Amino acid sequence: MLHLLEQTPEQLQAWFIGQGLPGYRAAQVRQWLFTRRARDFNQMTDLPQSVRNRLADEFRIWTTRIVTHRKSDDGTEKLLLELSAHERIECVLLGDDRHHRTICISTQVGCSMGCAFCASGLDGAARNLTAGEIIEQMLRLDRLLTEDERLSHIGVMGMGEPLGNLDRLLPALAAAASPDGLGISARRITISTVGLPGAIRRLANENCQYHLAVSLHAADDRLRDELVAANRGVGIQSILAAADYYFDLTGRRVTFECVLLAGVNDRVEDARRLVRLLSGRPALVNVIPYNPVADLPFRTPTPAAVARFVEIRAQGALNANIRHRKGDRIDAACGQLRRREG
Ligand code: SAH
Repeated sequence: MLHLLEQTPEQLQAWFIGQGLPGYRAAQVRQWLFTRRARDFNQMTDLPQSVRNRLADEFRIWTTRIVTHRKSDDGTEKLLLELSAHERIECVLLGDDRHHRTICISTQVGCSMGCAFCASGLDGAARNLTAGEIIEQMLRLDRLLTEDERLSHIGVMGMGEPLGNLDRLLPALAAAASPDGLGISARRITISTVGLPGAIRRLANENCQYHLAVSLHAADDRLRDELVAANRGVGIQSILAAADYYFDLTGRRVTFECVLLAGVNDRVEDARRLVRLLSGRPALVNVIPYNPVADLPFRTPTPAAVARFVEIRAQGALNANIRHRKGDRIDAACGQLRRREG
């Protein structure tokens, strides 16, 4: 059986034509999947029953099983999905408000970037998700919305390294951004990367207008090498050069993310170093207070330390935001739910 969500619009159309059926049926099916929120072929009522049967013989819509569905008080919902025997991934629908519904999706099972503080990478090796598996997360979360709500933003910042799986991510995001897909503007889709210079340049060359966020966390290579194994042998300067290239080609400002770890990278001198590193760039900085992970030694900074950090950046004329944690109580940080229930 083929995964229906893995099929490009062209492939689906070719399948219909190959069956001796009109090609426009493919557009109808996509409409059922992406805008009419069908859960099975039988709901696709403007297709003849015989066509629905043939589709059901050939394709599966869903390849994952929902293991856990958690809801928190702030409206955040999190799905733990099982792909096959022991492979589990997470995806999240944030609470936002009636007009903004953001989802956060995974691109790999596990992660091999080796960030010392992150739950996703604790078990090392990663397997790339297929484009269909990435799209399936979007559609599963979309089906949690009420009838009058629409997804407005996507953060590719769940488990895994998105730029380590660009070949599958790009078609999945094309389905998200396409007017006959989910119709979410590329400008409202954020790809968060650990910082892989070659892949950042490749993404820039695609000129898709996605928003790029680089998880920097430290302003010098000594500390960054310690926190992010993938930094070793790469270095901050080559990542910044690639980020500049991204901005030059796409005109999109790059965001730099900084997960604040108490006593590790939240001191006054850390903030000053970051200001020096990024000054003169049209960059935005997102400060994310650490969400503690069981068995890891890192701690969340005090609110005062976070405020001081942001203040120093503001004085240095760097645009800084604090990204408030959502869904802590349902383990909504990267890889946490999988770890608890794994
Ligand atoms: N691999 C990509 C995307 C996945 S992680 C990347 O590194 O950007 C998305 C963001 O969550 C990254 O900035 C990551 O550093 C951060 N993160 C991971 N674990 C966290 C935790 N326990 N608390 C807060 N942020 C965390």
